[in-house]
Amino acid sequence: MQGLYVHIPFCRSKCIYCDFYSVPRSDDMEKVARGLVDEFTARRDEIEGPFDTIYLGGGTPSAMPPELLSYICRHLPFNEVAEATIEVNPDDVTADSVKLWRSLGFNRVSMGVQTLDTNILRRIGRRHTPQKALDAIRLLHDGGIVNISADLIYGLPGQSIGRWQNDLDTLMTSPITHLSAYSLTYHEGTMLYRQMLAGKITPADDDTTTRYFEILRASAATHEFEHYEISNLARPGFRSRHNSAYWNPSSRWLGIGPSAHSFDGNTRRIDLPSIPLWLKSLPQPFEIDDETGLDRINDNIVTALRTADGLDLASIPEPWRSSVLAEARRFITAGHMHLRDNRLIIDQSHWIISDSYIRDLIQI
Ligand code: SF4
Repeated sequence: MQGLYVHIPFCRSKCIYCDFYSVPRSDDMEKVARGLVDEFTARRDEIEGPFDTIYLGGGTPSAMPPELLSYICRHLPFNEVAEATIEVNPDDVTADSVKLWRSLGFNRVSMGVQTLDTNILRRIGRRHTPQKALDAIRLLHDGGIVNISADLIYGLPGQSIGRWQNDLDTLMTSPITHLSAYSLTYHEGTMLYRQMLAGKITPADDDTTTRYFEILRASAATHEFEHYEISNLARPGFRSRHNSAYWNPSSRWLGIGPSAHSFDGNTRRIDLPSIPLWLKSLPQPFEIDDETGLDRINDNIVTALRTADGLDLASIPEPWRSSVLAEARRFITAGHMHLRDNRLIIDQSHWIISDSYIRDLIQI
């Protein structure tokens, strides 16, 4: 799998929990659009052969003016890929914008819904209402986008178990094909983190978080979504190809735009997370991440064990493979982990505490 990720670093406003690199829309948008095309042109050959997926993320790609979005897309290899995703905000979804995204070559839309509670949306800095998000799903579907992904968050301040169940039932009976459901994270540097430090918000405790996750698992079964990664669920045949590539050690991807990551099979590159510095360093605006071979093995363990397909032991070289398997034996014996077709798989009933297993399998 070979993916192309394009980071659009602009948002209309900042959500209080978000630690992605994004800034308010500004006159820089045109310079960044031109820079993205320059960077892609200069670095395209870092990945040999055609791309399988394109993913425009951010930030909010749908907040880019249509002429700049069209300019960027005209220079991307849509003819090579099977899956082309654009991240959008419900506010930006209209019949015309859906038509534009389709005409540019996108066949998948990923939209941040986060919750269907009006008060919580306001509290976390989202601009849309629950109704706007549901209308947006309908507009996307009626506009011919078959593959629609929605993001939800659990553990939000003011959320309840009943509200969470209602959000899941509502979305899973809508025309979405994919759902990403994340536990709220208190990232240092965010407004949410500052509010926690100031005692204005108390994070959900472990028992409550477990309850939210169990409801997510049960809802997946009820509504026939495949829970294929801890935070990702899909109707049959609609796994995200692009995201799945990040969990597979044989994948390669090129990431362009401020803060984007790339991996060409040998070297990981990270684009500078600052528009002025990134523009100044074009067309090679990245730093090399000096990770070791062991770092890469551990990355593989961490990401693969979060998936339903698990960790392919053949992807771990010796002597680490034997060491991982030896550590895993007690979890296998206890029934918390399975060894199937040379893959180590955490039982889904234990996914919520997967970090504790992963910690024990990390190699030092
Ligand atoms: S719209 Fe998305 S990228 Fe922008 S601040 Fe909110 S969560 Fe972050």
